[in-house]
Formats: sequence, structure tokens, C-alpha cells
Amino acid sequence: MASEISTSASPPATASSVAVLVPLALPEPYDYAVPSGLTLNPGDYVVVPLGAQELIGVVWGAGKGGFDRKKLKAVIERFDAPPMPEALMRLIDWIAGYTLAPRGSVLRLAVRAPGALEPPRLRIAYRLTDRRPARMTPARLRAVETASDGFVRTVRELAEEAGVSDGVVRGLVEAGTFAPVEMPAEAPFPLPDPEAQGMALSPDQAEVAAALAASVAEGGYSATLLDGVTGSGKTEVYFEAVAEALRRQKQVLILLPEIALTSQFLDRFEQRFGCRPAEWHSDLSSRERTRVWRGVAEGRARVVVGARSALFLPFPELGLIIVDEEHEAAFKQEDGVPYHARDMAVVCASLGRFPIVLSSATPSLETVVNADQGRYRRLRLEARHGVAEMPQVEAVDMRRHPPERGRWLSPLLVTEITRTLEAGEQAMLFLNRRGYAPLTLCRTCGHRFECPQCSSWLVEHRFRRELACHHCGYTAPVPKACPSCGAEDALVACGPGVERIAEEVAELFPQARTAVVSSDVLHGPAAHRAVFAAIEAREVDIIVGTQIVAKGHHFPWLTLVGVVDADLGLENGDLRAAERTFQLLQQVAGRAGRAERPGRVLLQTWMPQHGVMRALVSGDRDAFLAREAEARERVSLPPFGRLVGVVVASADAELARRTAREMARRVPKTGEVSVLGPAPAPMALLRGRTRLRFLVKAGRQVNVQAFMQAWLGEMKLPNAVRVSVDIDPYSFM
Ligand code: ADP
Ligand code: ZN
Repeated sequence: MASEISTSASPPATASSVAVLVPLALPEPYDYAVPSGLTLNPGDYVVVPLGAQELIGVVWGAGKGGFDRKKLKAVIERFDAPPMPEALMRLIDWIAGYTLAPRGSVLRLAVRAPGALEPPRLRIAYRLTDRRPARMTPARLRAVETASDGFVRTVRELAEEAGVSDGVVRGLVEAGTFAPVEMPAEAPFPLPDPEAQGMALSPDQAEVAAALAASVAEGGYSATLLDGVTGSGKTEVYFEAVAEALRRQKQVLILLPEIALTSQFLDRFEQRFGCRPAEWHSDLSSRERTRVWRGVAEGRARVVVGARSALFLPFPELGLIIVDEEHEAAFKQEDGVPYHARDMAVVCASLGRFPIVLSSATPSLETVVNADQGRYRRLRLEARHGVAEMPQVEAVDMRRHPPERGRWLSPLLVTEITRTLEAGEQAMLFLNRRGYAPLTLCRTCGHRFECPQCSSWLVEHRFRRELACHHCGYTAPVPKACPSCGAEDALVACGPGVERIAEEVAELFPQARTAVVSSDVLHGPAAHRAVFAAIEAREVDIIVGTQIVAKGHHFPWLTLVGVVDADLGLENGDLRAAERTFQLLQQVAGRAGRAERPGRVLLQTWMPQHGVMRALVSGDRDAFLAREAEARERVSLPPFGRLVGVVVASADAELARRTAREMARRVPKTGEVSVLGPAPAPMALLRGRTRLRFLVKAGRQVNVQAFMQAWLGEMKLPNAVRVSVDIDPYSFM
């Protein structure tokens, strides 16, 4: 970062000042002097001094003034990059105001591409010339032969392909056998072609697609719920809205839960638009992040498919957002700035005055209520595409058809798996629990293995031979003897995880080819791709998986889905437990029978009369949602009321309790808001920190942000205590 302006130089008296926001946990931008000769506009990326540091910041507006001009430090440098779009700046302001997170922390979400502001570096590659070295060795000959196909390569690439050392290649460069060529450092972004051949849509699909395209053509803000059963072709339909936006020279953002960002999805995009979209997610290398960030900022990347943080990319011409699987809890960020990407995407569309489409087969209650009350438009796709029909869903009453001792699969399910395999089709067993067993205890003394840093049991992972905490990552080898009573070989595993189900499957169906699909068995995107490809290619008969198999995949030969424990999600008592269990199981059920062969779903449950099971069996989603809505409205829970979660955490347990008591004393008195707590959080100990919770409840019309400011805005917190505020919480742990 070369600069001729020294930071200590006092600015010329005539210099104006600007407010610069830096990506640190600071609520407001700071004033800086503008050195003469530099023109700065809102959105410009600059380098400013802060304490002993030099930081990248963004010019947020004119300086507020009121400072001694002479003491004002000066902006060091302006980057030669497209300024941050005004719409993104307003979104950052809005999110900071809504979530009560420091504005600088929100800005940090938008400047996450290291090096993106520097001009792209050129890369040097080499091509073969007619000159040959005086001395030709076998290694040199191999390098020459490799390059004789005419393609250019970097030194590293050439050396690798030819199986020689870098030195051999460099020697040939010196000898003039290879000549340098300058290459753009970054691959360009192909342009998605809206007129490329799409699928022929059914009349229903075409009607919905036309309605979506019309709202894009019309322009202006609108929010649409695209509500259609799994397999009804929602993706194909919203692609038509994407096409319309491309025709109008707009950029498009498609938000997907990270887990659904599969190569299957990218392939389908390519089939429709002739090339892949730009991708944005946590697996990108920093080099790739830089490339995409810059491509978006310069308008070269026209369509981005990304996880929630893609919302903070600097689109200059954004004209459409699609939120696919809008009900997914993964859109809610829990750490740092707690924001819900779906909700903030709606804000983004409304600030930028363009359409947004929320797509789901199991929309969230929030969105359904918005549609019912007319804030969102609703478009429906009622039937599966083509000959595929909705799977038949049945509950297996575990009280009447219990598994054998020490087993987890009911004889009814086992029979059905046998039949499926005999027909040459695939079966999937779903259990949303990683590892072998969720709890390990000593048969002799009853000792339970608990995480030393969290209020949680250690989960046995038999494949890895260890006990692991799913909250903090703590692991320990499985001991030979009980650490409490010393009894040997007395440890018993309680309850099943996917690994244990896989073990049972191997005993029951020794001939079957089984794949365990869970995040801790598969490492990295390549491993995921490989297993999904194997399933598609019918190299797998039985899939045993956690929620990563529930979403977005299309396996034509999968006809049976067995849910090992349909009651699992209902155990945790949070307000969305029923809604989420329904959504998850409906998604899992949707994996069955997506092509010609009809699908069947068996739900193992101890509560077949539960509303969630009845809704899944009858398929009457709307009635279920109506009952849920009614129940929440009665007690003014979201979306009919507002919640704020407040967690007080400290490694010093007594300090955490004292701070929470002090906070409780300061709660402003108002009839509109009730504050429950402090109470020990369900995860009362997490990563060694003691945690207490408050829950703030208010009516929909109440400005909870103002209340929170009045409550905690003035309070001085001890350094060793962290208070996190979560507006619209989704996690109550
Ligand atoms: P959803 O997103 O609603 O679950 P998808 O868009 O994934 O549905 O479509 C399900 C399957 O049906 C996909 O394999 C898709 O390619 C196929 N499909 C949907 N609509 C059509 C169509 N009009 N013509 C051919 N295939 C289609
Ligand atoms: Zn832990």
C-alpha cells in the first residue's frame, strides 16, 4: 500500500473531511481529513489509520465535523476499485439498526475478499518456441514433448505434467526453448445466455414462470412465495425469472442453504443457461473469493449462486433475488452478526426496489403468514412434474411393531427394504444424528460421558474410535475402562446414530452396498460429490444418512425412505420444533419416487397421533400450518409477536450470574414488553463458559430495538462477560 501522504502530516486547512466506516466492532464511522488532490465519494474503499494500524474502510458520507481539524487524521489512500454500491451501504445500515450489531461488524461481512481491491496480478505462462537447448537431457525432452501440444502452461504445470523438476523447466526458459506469455490471472466469467435451450414447461409451470418473469419485467419491489411440492419444477420455473432479469441486463443472486449448493444444481443451471454461474460459499479458496468478488463488483459476474453471505457482495446492478429452500434454518447466522439471510434479502429487494422470490415445498410459517396477509404474493405448483407422483407416507407405530432387542429398525421397515432391494431399487434410511451412539455409559456404575466444557453428552464415533462433543469439537479416545469405577469393557452405547444403523443394515443385508452419508464421514465437497454420484449411478443400494441427504438431491432409483426416528426433532421444546420436524421429514420424504417408480415413506414413531405425523401421512400441510399459526397467535409468538434472545456468558460463572442479576434490575418498566429470565440456558455450559438467558417478548408493533437500547445501551459490562443479543432468535440453546 504505497502512499506519498504520511499519516502524521496535518491536513491542509482547506481539506474537507469524510466519515469512514472500518470493519471493526464499532457502531459509527469516524471522521478523516481528505488530503488535497484526492477526491472521495461515498462508497470509495480507502486506507485509514486507526491507532497504530492501517485499515481498509469505506467512505460512508461527509464528515460529521465538530472536531479540531488539526487533530483529524487523514485518509492514506483510495483504492482504484468500483465503489461500494449505495444499495449495499443502505443494507448494511439497515441490518445494523435491526440486529443491533455494530455497523462496522456488518461491514466486515461485505469486505471478506482479501486482495480483491488490489489490481489483479498477471500470471506468466510459457509456450514452446523453435529453439532447442544445446544439451538435451531426457528430462528436458519430456518437458519439450509435453509442451508440443501448443498449450501454454506455468512452470509448475509444465513440471508437474512432464514429471520433471521446476529447475528443468527454468533451464529451458533460459535457453529460449520456452517463451513467456502474459495471462490474465483470473478466469473470465462466461455470460449465462437467457435464450439457451430450457426445458419445455408444462402449462402449469409455464403460467407460474410467466407470472414471475412479468414481475421482473415490471420492475419495482415485489415478494413472491413460490410454493410447490418437491419435484414440481420450482427450479425450472424460477430460472425463467432469472432469464428475464438477464435480458434486462440485471445481475441475479440465487441464495441456497450451503448444504444445497451441489454440483447437481450447478449442472442444471448450466443446462438452462449454457454455462455455470459464479459460486460463493465457505469452501472457496481465497483466490476464488477474490475473483468472484471482483467479478461481481465490475458487473462481469451476472449470476451468483451462493450461501447466505453472498447477500453482501457488491452487486452494482442487482435486479432479482431468489431464495431457494427459504424455510431453511441455515439462512440464520448464529455467530457474530446474528442475521437471517432470507429476511435481509427481502429488505435488500425492498431497498433496491426489485423483485424477490422465496421458493419452498415447505415454506416457513413466517412466510406463509406474510402470504396469507397479502404482504407476499403466492404462486403454487401443485403436482410433481411428469409421471412422478407424491410418495405414499405411512407411520410405523413402534409400540405395536417394535424392533428386536438391541435393534432400531422395525420388522415392517425391514420387510419393505427387502422388497425394495429385490426390485433393484434403492432405499434410504434417515436419522438426523451423526456418530454411533448419542450417549455412552458405564454398565457397572452408571457413569455418563459428558463434555468437560459443555452441558452435553459425548457422542461415540465408532469409525473414528473416539467420543466427541458436537457442540465444541472436544474429542477423547474411547477408554478401555470406566474412568469412574474402573470396570473394564463395561461401556454401553445408548441409542442410535447413523453409524449404528449402518451396522444393523450390514447385519441384516450383508449383500447390499451401503453408503453412510454424514458430514463427519465425508470430508470436503469432493467426497460429497463422489458419494452422490455413486448413488445416482446405482452403485449404492442402501443410503444411511443425516440431513445432508434430505435436501435437493434427485435420485431416480430411490423408492423407499425409512425415517428411523421421526420423533427426534420434537424432543427439543423450542417454538419451531413441530414446524421444523415437519419441514425436515417432508423434505426427506420428497426424496422418494422422484421419477417413474412410485415412492414409499415409512415413519418410525412412538407418537403416531402427533399432529406432525398426521400431517405427513395425510399430506395436508396447509391444515397443519393453519393449526401451528393459530397456536402461536394465541400466545403471541412469532410471527405474531416479537422475540429477542439475550445470552450472558462468561468463563467466570459467578460473574455471569452477577451480571445477569444486574441486568434484570435494569429492565425498563413498560407494559408492552416482558422480559423472562435470567435462567440457565439449556446449554448452561458451552466451551467452558457459563451461560444464562433472557427472553424478551413483545407485540409485533413494538420497537424492540429501542427497548433493547434503553435496557442495555448504557450498561457497562465487565470485560470478561459477553452479552449477545439475538433479534428474532431461531436457536434457544
Ligand atoms: P423442485 O425444485 O420443485 O423440487 P425441480 O425443479 O428440482 O423441482 O424438478 C424436479 C425434477 O423434474 C428435475 O429433475 C427437473 O429437471 C424435472 N423437471 C421439472 N420440470 C420439468 C420440465 N418441464 N420438463 C422436464 N423435466 C422437468
Ligand atoms: Zn463440548
